[in-house]
Amino acid sequence: MVETLLTNLPGTRDILPEEISSWHLVEGAARSIFARYGFEEIRTPLLEATELFARGIGGETDIVGKQMYVFQDQSGKSMSLRPEATASVVRSYLQHSMYRCAGLAKLYYVGPMFRHEKKQKGRWRQFYQIGAEALGSEHPAIEAEVIEMMMFFLESLEIRAHLLVNSVGDGKCRPQYIESLGQKLRGRLADLCEDCRRRAETNPLRVLDCKVETCQPVIDALPKIADHLCTECSQHFEQVKSYLQEAGVSYEIVPRLVRGLDYYVRTAFEIVSGELGAQNALVGGGRYDGLAEVLGGPRVPGFGFAMGLDRLIMILPEEVRAKGKRPPELFLAYLGDAAFRKALSLGRSLRHKGFSCHFEFTGGSLKSQLREANRLRAGSVLIIGEQELARGRYILKRMEDSTQSEVSLEDLVQHLQKRRCAGLK
Ligand code: AMP
Repeated sequence: MVETLLTNLPGTRDILPEEISSWHLVEGAARSIFARYGFEEIRTPLLEATELFARGIGGETDIVGKQMYVFQDQSGKSMSLRPEATASVVRSYLQHSMYRCAGLAKLYYVGPMFRHEKKQKGRWRQFYQIGAEALGSEHPAIEAEVIEMMMFFLESLEIRAHLLVNSVGDGKCRPQYIESLGQKLRGRLADLCEDCRRRAETNPLRVLDCKVETCQPVIDALPKIADHLCTECSQHFEQVKSYLQEAGVSYEIVPRLVRGLDYYVRTAFEIVSGELGAQNALVGGGRYDGLAEVLGGPRVPGFGFAMGLDRLIMILPEEVRAKGKRPPELFLAYLGDAAFRKALSLGRSLRHKGFSCHFEFTGGSLKSQLREANRLRAGSVLIIGEQELARGRYILKRMEDSTQSEVSLEDLVQHLQKRRCAGLK
């Protein structure tokens, strides 16, 4: 056997059955809560033309410049594994002319993204995002509503998180701000990291995102965008804040929170968690009214976010994880061949009635079967021996307190129904 075939690629991983229940729980909560807010799921391909991301995310970003998985297919066309899904969702919205029929399109997605990142806790090369995009409205209330939905979703999972917001201005006021940033940065080039020296020329806004320690004093002394917002952007931001307050969502304004791309306008936000460590961002989002046009469509205002599912699962509280687990309701233990056949037929009929049943095929001792029932955390065990089979009465064992009683098959169904109504497994 070739050893490397037995190991997954760096930055990827297997999500094993014991963990998957948490993923189902989180995805189920997102689907249920997003639907209440009128969002519908969209599934776009994992592979798209490289140009879609180059334009849709921006050539100057780390994602496009350094992290994309780019391939050429047999015809020589350049395609990439999606590093994020907003560009794909907007592409799909335009391709299917959704702007013609829907006033406001509310779309969400769940799925894997791919970025060639340096391996680090909380950073994967294949990671998963849940994201939502509201396309077709400039209203500040839609921003507050989307953020409120996200906070509600996190609360429902008992995740404590902190909302950071800012306004990045628009095409009218941001250019002057960028100009003044550029000027200040050109005077401090010697104090900046190599990437920021380049960004000072190509895209000064991205300097604000830099995490390199030596750049921080320079960044702290830079002018703040809040002092450069035009009246419209300033009023828009005031409204977003007031809608958030009305919704009872608390936030912190962080002046250096920007999305350094031309088509990101006005509100930018991030949700962070102190429990995540260095990679503390759980959600990133903002308004991107210029994106549809950059991709060649009409002007369509948009607002959305992407949440890192891997990171959310990392900090999901144990009590919440436990709610996602679905151990078998009944384990059928048998002794002898006739009892084995009874277990098979009984299991079949109970499964058709909607109950989850397990049994072993190895025909081990009663002790080893009970050990397996314990390991699976089965709610109850039905013991079928030759005598029980002959009498049509079986031994039922409740696993939480090890109490036993004799039951008929009708009693068994009633027992399982009662436990389900009582919320027991
Ligand atoms: P972004 O698309 O970069 O704005 O990221 C949105 C969210 O996705 C982040 O806040 C993270 O929670 C998550 N995320 C981004 N990159 C990674 C990664 N390499 N590994 C795990 N999660 C990630």
